[in-house]
Amino acid sequence: RERTELQWNKAACRFCGTGCSVMVATRNGRVVATHGDAEAEVNRGLNCVKGYFLSKIMYGADRLTLPLLRKRNGVYDKTGDFEEVSWDEAFDVMAEKFKATLREKGPEAVGMFGSGQWTVWEGYAASKLYKAGFRSNNIDPNARHCMASAVAGFIRTFGIDEPMGCYDDFEHADAFVLWGANMAEMHPILWTRLTDRRLSAPHVRVAVLSTYHNRCYDLADLEMTFTPQTDLALLNAIARHIIKTGKVNTDFVDKHVNFKRGNPDIGYGLRPEHPLEQAAENPDAAGGFTDMTFEEFEEFLEPYTFEYAEELSGVPARRIEELAEIYADPDTKVMSLWTMGVNQHTRGVWVNNMIYNVHLLTGKIAEPGNSPFSLTGQPSACGTAREVGTFAHRLPADLVVANPEHRATAEKIWKLPEGTVPGWVGAHAVLQNRKLKDGEINAYWIQVNNNLQAAPNMLEETYPGYRNPENFIVVSDAYPTVTAQAADLVLPTAMWVEKEGAYGNAERRTQFWHELAPAPGEARSDLWQVMEFSKRFTTDEVWPAEILDAAPEYRGKTLFEVLYANGNVDAYDVAETEEYPNHESDHFGFYVQKGLFEEYARFGRGHAHDLADFDTYHQVRGLRWPVVDGQETRWRFREGYDPYVTEGAGWDFYGKPDGRANIFALPYEPPAESPDDEYPFWLVTGRVLEHWHSGSMTDRVPELHKAYPDAMVYMHPEDAASLGLHRGSAVKLTSRRGDMLTRVETRGRNRVPRGLIFVPWFDANQLINKLTLDATDPISKQTDFKKCACKVEAA
Ligand code: SF4
Repeated sequence: RERTELQWNKAACRFCGTGCSVMVATRNGRVVATHGDAEAEVNRGLNCVKGYFLSKIMYGADRLTLPLLRKRNGVYDKTGDFEEVSWDEAFDVMAEKFKATLREKGPEAVGMFGSGQWTVWEGYAASKLYKAGFRSNNIDPNARHCMASAVAGFIRTFGIDEPMGCYDDFEHADAFVLWGANMAEMHPILWTRLTDRRLSAPHVRVAVLSTYHNRCYDLADLEMTFTPQTDLALLNAIARHIIKTGKVNTDFVDKHVNFKRGNPDIGYGLRPEHPLEQAAENPDAAGGFTDMTFEEFEEFLEPYTFEYAEELSGVPARRIEELAEIYADPDTKVMSLWTMGVNQHTRGVWVNNMIYNVHLLTGKIAEPGNSPFSLTGQPSACGTAREVGTFAHRLPADLVVANPEHRATAEKIWKLPEGTVPGWVGAHAVLQNRKLKDGEINAYWIQVNNNLQAAPNMLEETYPGYRNPENFIVVSDAYPTVTAQAADLVLPTAMWVEKEGAYGNAERRTQFWHELAPAPGEARSDLWQVMEFSKRFTTDEVWPAEILDAAPEYRGKTLFEVLYANGNVDAYDVAETEEYPNHESDHFGFYVQKGLFEEYARFGRGHAHDLADFDTYHQVRGLRWPVVDGQETRWRFREGYDPYVTEGAGWDFYGKPDGRANIFALPYEPPAESPDDEYPFWLVTGRVLEHWHSGSMTDRVPELHKAYPDAMVYMHPEDAASLGLHRGSAVKLTSRRGDMLTRVETRGRNRVPRGLIFVPWFDANQLINKLTLDATDPISKQTDFKKCACKVEAA
């Protein structure tokens, strides 16, 4: 449909979990400009530098427009070169490989790695294809690298996922505590809201904790640079201070909190033999926890004096006390903020739990300004990865595959025979890579992520699996990323406003947009790819005889028919899309996104995950769930704000059967790897303001590329001098796993302490993930990208 007028429409930003709303201008089928949406509560007309250049992310010169298959002599060959093929040929070869794998090795040998950048219905459709269609729970999102520790933290403490507070807390808090979050670069628009509050209300204080001096320190009233991993000790010292100074909110604690003790012999509540879903989703059932008294909790904390915390962390005791006083003071409303610094941690779940501990001890929770707030990195880490349940152990709305009742609920909503969804927990992200390497997963599909540049220990753990001759690797992407280049088949993908979409941001806000511009060439959305591929399989090929014997009406149907077509998903008239193009709906004959969304919403309605109806979201700038009687919820668990809390209750942590949140006794534990004589430096990785994750989009925007063209290693000038190096010196960084060449930076936005170096990971020409450690949190299975040991030498 040709358009000559400049047309403006709303959309959610393609990048971070802040979830800014943007206005998108299109002309003649092309996005030509974007700006911040003045009507949006989240960003109030502002964008960060990435958001201002959104209009250019789709038009990189090397955009993929046709499927690419490795071939030799006209046929697929893993050792061949990429050749352009049709969608038919691509899906023929792909279906043949998946069918052979399913036939010979079963559902555990197929897998998928998805994304917190999938739209809501893309993640939902992919999860259905794997968990119900292929009967394989080997599907996991890249949110495993990003949010899994936060998820397990929520479930263990509150029994239900996602923050109780919202961004309105920024305007109500008296103090902000950043636990390892560099919001000035990673969540810049939220940082403007925090800065606005700090500068307009003189009593407000900002405490910044990090392992190196970053841009947030410019606003800090209290700065604390601590030794990696010692946040565990700092949080216990704060909890101890709250108790010792008599600042526990005893009325709140008596009514709303349980104290839990783990058994140190089994990892404080985690038995090694217990699978992920029990430990993370139902810790009480995992048998590791027993009730303890408040007095016993106090006794447990006794060793965590400020002096002991100083000894471990390097932060002076008086500063730790100053921070503890912020939490302890009953008149100070505190917002704690964290993201990867806490989550990418071998004890990330514990740190999440321990932050809740200090908020629960003081009753500073679930009311305006009192808010432990877990930020997200990706635009739909909440909306898609968590709420849709694309994790290997989950189903929508916090249900889990290991629970037979939950599986039955899914099968009922999906109109599928009993027993379709398997109960085994699928392989998480790092385990998928190991299983690819070991030849246990052989047919594998990656959508909306660049895992070869993101996953840890790339040379030893990730790349070998992609090039294992036994494996067939499919990558759907808009650009030829590092991951796509290692694939056997590359599928060209429509991105952002080239398709209709929905994201869920960090404050439980669900936001929609329409398709606004056509995708180039034959690029198609991930949703179309998943649904179209499902047409290549029949139930007889992929479901066991016992299921089909019990439900013969499903025999001979395609997976498309039983998962997505009219009759399984409610069909809405394509005419409803008339105002906007919607190529998926045109293709499938009904408003497919609406059908999938309304089906998905059934999981949460009436279960404290209520979503509004589909059409409403196209009219508003997002709504924060639960949405009940048309009203969004700003503060969960709190009387007067949350419709699920009854009058007179005050607070109700209804995710737990008794309505009480858990305070956990958890110890300090040393890191998995620390500097030593051979590898004397801490290596810390992270992001920069100008680039989104692996840079596959932002590095193709000329302005953003020029603003930050190459990664570098930030070093303390005295460390550099001691090695005969200076600013600009070429160096080789080496860990026990791999090495990388780069240049030294001794100034700039990050100032690191002696003995620590920082390297951003956006640069495809400098793969820092060759060095990073593949140790994971044993509960959440999230990787600790934030620290490992390395050495630095002149190159
Ligand atoms: Fe907002 Fe994040 Fe997009 Fe920047 S990248 S405009 S902060 S959503």
